[in-house]
Amino acid sequence: MAVVVHKYGGTSVAGPERIRTVARRVARAREAGDRVVVVVSAMGDTTDELIALAGRVTANPPDRELDMLMATGEQITAALLAMALGDLGVPAVSFTGSQVGIITDSAHRKAKILEISTEKIAEELAAGNVVVVAGFQGVDHRRNITTLGRGGSDTTAVALAAVLGAPCLIFTDVDGVYTADPWIVPGARKIGRIAYDEMLEMASLGAKVLQARAVEFAKKYGVRVEVRSSFSDAPGTVLTGEADDMEDMVLRGVTVDRDEAKLTILHVPDRPGIAAAIFGSMAEANINVDMIIQNVSAKGFTDVSFTVARDDFRRATAALEEVVGRIGAAGMTSDEDIAKVSVVGVGMKSHRGVASTMFSALAREGINIEMISTSEIKISCVVEAKDADRAARAVHEAFGLGRREGDA
Ligand code: ADP
Ligand code: ASP
Ligand code: MG
Repeated sequence: MAVVVHKYGGTSVAGPERIRTVARRVARAREAGDRVVVVVSAMGDTTDELIALAGRVTANPPDRELDMLMATGEQITAALLAMALGDLGVPAVSFTGSQVGIITDSAHRKAKILEISTEKIAEELAAGNVVVVAGFQGVDHRRNITTLGRGGSDTTAVALAAVLGAPCLIFTDVDGVYTADPWIVPGARKIGRIAYDEMLEMASLGAKVLQARAVEFAKKYGVRVEVRSSFSDAPGTVLTGEADDMEDMVLRGVTVDRDEAKLTILHVPDRPGIAAAIFGSMAEANINVDMIIQNVSAKGFTDVSFTVARDDFRRATAALEEVVGRIGAAGMTSDEDIAKVSVVGVGMKSHRGVASTMFSALAREGINIEMISTSEIKISCVVEAKDADRAARAVHEAFGLGRREGDA
């Protein structure tokens, strides 16, 4: 009997009726002869609500305790799904990440999976049980509960599929990966097959449909991942090594990332060692820096702007205040109302004019570009948050990524 991993996201398990619907789908897979491991997310907006709840107790909840709190969300769903399966006559048993042996490092809120012991799962599957695992969480070597970063249940599922040598079906509230978020860009087109690298880039740049780390796992271990709808039987999107039509596809998609904030250090003396001091302080605080812009200096002074994850924003500001004084800068400003709009595609390597098409599309919409960064396979522009959706639609349209005649 083959093992298969299913993963159901928050919207798919948002209430008791939906959990029962998920149970019926799992039961069907089992009837078809599969041994099923199911990874679940917290119900609906539970994770956001738990974070907000912590914020009402203290302005600065410690990351360790936030992990303790957030991990309960997934545990609730796992228990309820096991009950719903039992009610259908399907023997099922639920576990937390810790119980099932998902060992992580100790980086609370963004922990990395170090190892997974398959013993427990294998034992339960052999006994004929469906194994329901609470996603998004693990435990470190000192028995602290950890979480894997927002969207981390995808990574739980793909990592389990990797160690079990099983395919992974990601059931969510859209029926596949589209050329852009279909809720933002109504004309977006479903992609049948997408290369791991392109999916990785799209996920890293804000396409929340899969967590980037899940795609990394899939690529590293060659896991067959399919993204599908939990509300229909429509065929989804399959992640592969190489997509068939890659050569003639210049661009794969457009993404919007609203999870960054911009910091600017003003009137910085333009001399060696300054960038090292600024970004050294970020590294020391374990904060990843994304885009960086240093202006041309005027009279020996310059401004330096960069973006960090919104989650790190408060810590970044605190660390920078100290640096500003030390390097003799005039001060700093911050802007949380930004979004990053990107175009992604491996075909971009061999095509000219991609950047100018993107910038012209934004110009036609009267949207100002605050920062730009490029790589071989993507171009990103930071814009005002209020302009982001319009920017995504304009760029998507300019590259002709939308539905074509004859598409379903
Ligand atoms: P889940 O709770 O099932 O994990 P998520 O909200 O994390 O679901 O991810 C699914 C969402 O990802 C979709 O509802 C959609 O808004 C968003 N999304 C962003 N970019 C894309 C894309 N390119 N294709 C499909 N969905 C996308
Ligand atoms: N519940 C977690 C989150 O909202 C993990 C997940 O849904 O994948 O980020
Ligand atoms: Mg998700």
